[in-house]
Amino acid sequence: MRVSDVTGRVLVQLRDAGDYPDNPTLNAAGLVPFFPDGCPEAAPTDWPLDTVDYEAPHASTICPGCVESWRAEHLVSQPRTVPAGTPLSLHFPWVAPQPAPATPEGASRPAGTDPQPVDASV
Ligand SMILES: [Zn+2]
Repeated sequence: MRVSDVTGRVLVQLRDAGDYPDNPTLNAAGLVPFFPDGCPEAAPTDWPLDTVDYEAPHASTICPGCVESWRAEHLVSQPRTVPAGTPLSLHFPWVAPQPAPATPEGASRPAGTDPQPVDASV
């Protein structure tokens, strides 16, 4: 099997992801490779081991045989077939962006940056 034959993906998220509001790894949804015929014993040919772990079958991939064990701690979507070239794994943090620092009291603003009324009659 080659990486290009891996056309299934599922979306997973830790069930208690919300307990980690500041952790962009744990508080995230992720795209995970899905193997309809079972996770292979070894990573498929050309697997990008530097970016997508493959320490063991079922560890970072999902198949019908291991999906129930994943569901113990994760929400797991139904599998979808994805177009060629779709990354094996993608990570979508839910962590909120940090608010921009407020302008300190009494700080001078650069000249000419005050908002001007817009003339809507033109
Ligand atoms: Zn599996």
